[in-house]
Amino acid sequence: MVVDLEAIAENVALTLERVAPAQVWAVVKAGAYGHGDVAVAAAALTAGASGLCVATVEEGERIRSAGIDAPVLLLSQQSPRVAERIVAARLTPTLYAVDAMDALVSAGAKDLPVHVKVDTGMQRVGVRPDGLSQLVAALTERSPALRLEGIYTHLAVADRIDDPGTNEQLERFETALAELDLDGVLIHAANSAGALVHPGSRRDLVRLGIAMYGLSPGDDLTAEKLGLRPALTLRARVGHVKRVEAGSSISYGWRHTFDRATTVATVPIGYADGVPRRLSSLGGEVLIGGRRHRMVGVVTMDQLMVDVGDAPVAVDDEVVLIGSQGGERIGVAEWSAMLGTIDYEVVCGISARVPRRSIGG
Ligand SMILES: *Cc1c(COP(=O)(O)O)cnc(C)c1O
Repeated sequence: MVVDLEAIAENVALTLERVAPAQVWAVVKAGAYGHGDVAVAAAALTAGASGLCVATVEEGERIRSAGIDAPVLLLSQQSPRVAERIVAARLTPTLYAVDAMDALVSAGAKDLPVHVKVDTGMQRVGVRPDGLSQLVAALTERSPALRLEGIYTHLAVADRIDDPGTNEQLERFETALAELDLDGVLIHAANSAGALVHPGSRRDLVRLGIAMYGLSPGDDLTAEKLGLRPALTLRARVGHVKRVEAGSSISYGWRHTFDRATTVATVPIGYADGVPRRLSSLGGEVLIGGRRHRMVGVVTMDQLMVDVGDAPVAVDDEVVLIGSQGGERIGVAEWSAMLGTIDYEVVCGISARVPRRSIGG
């Protein structure tokens, strides 16, 4: 897999232009959506991102181990058991309960910036809007150990452009904030879809995830329409080539039978690498020699097979599963449409076994 860090930088710069004066904080959870967290984090910061966001303490510690000292926001409240690690790595915790505050104070927090998350309708995590001012008061009592740096919420339907739910959430957020003294506090609500198509959600910073990778936040918002450039190419090389006879069948279950003699290329990448087993039966294709070819038979754990017809394909030829080759392109969106899922799940599914290489950094 190759990740083009120039594309990451371009997508960050483009978003910065659109959301200014709001900051961009780059979301690099889940190994930067499968793209490689440290390389992407460094590229995003160089391109102008002001902070990073992760889901787990381990992810934050990886960023710190790489020598990156930018703010790293943990996107949900963590167990009191890891409070010492949060303090030691100087990660920015998200809080919505008093016991989590106390754990951080006991862990020796000193002037630790924290963000409070308000649940305005996602119904996943966060303090209810009517509990916000009480929580902020509890936080103020724990100053100077803890310092309120941000208050935020998360949008549930921002990728559906015309859904009134986004404005309803923003109104609830506004009402909860109205009771507070927000001097110097960073207010934020936007994910990628919010940042790009709901100007009212931008506020002081946007948490940019999927769009930074040049991928689509949802059906209404294709990456092309948004002017984003995809960063990821998933490729392999032909491992074996053979002729097969008409009437013969292939792969586990012999579910595909050839209606003519043809040439089959075997490619050493499978479902353990993140190519879903059912992709072949859904019409999955790859690029070899600048042309599309159909996968045949079920994808196996480590290998998949491709019907290349009479094309002159040889061992070691480059196979592009996601990305461009010649004039052809297979986007992540092609997989997510076939699989009935979203771009996020496809790229997060590319497993640790696939070697990651970055270019343009
Ligand atoms: C993952 C996440 C994001 C990023 O969302 P995208 O749609 O990828 O931009 C932003 N905020 C929170 C709280 C998240 O969990």
